[in-house]
Amino acid sequence: MKNHSRDLEYIDELRTHHRRLIPLICICDDCQYTFEAENKPERCPDCGRLKVREATAQEAETYRKVRAEIEKEEQQG
Ligand SMILES: [Zn+2]
Repeated sequence: MKNHSRDLEYIDELRTHHRRLIPLICICDDCQYTFEAENKPERCPDCGRLKVREATAQEAETYRKVRAEIEKEEQQG
């Protein structure tokens, strides 16, 4: 998608310069498990397959949205 937000570009830039502070969002191509890691592991922590890749900007955005929703629900009890 061409029209992705400035925020994401900013996060990408931050991640490049401060890799340790902002975890990488990784996704498993096999089971679609999405998780944060400092460094991309070879194996998926969920299914154990060697199918882990870096999430695209769009996948990362979706992941952040889902996480935000979960946090909101947890706060509401
Ligand atoms: Zn997996």
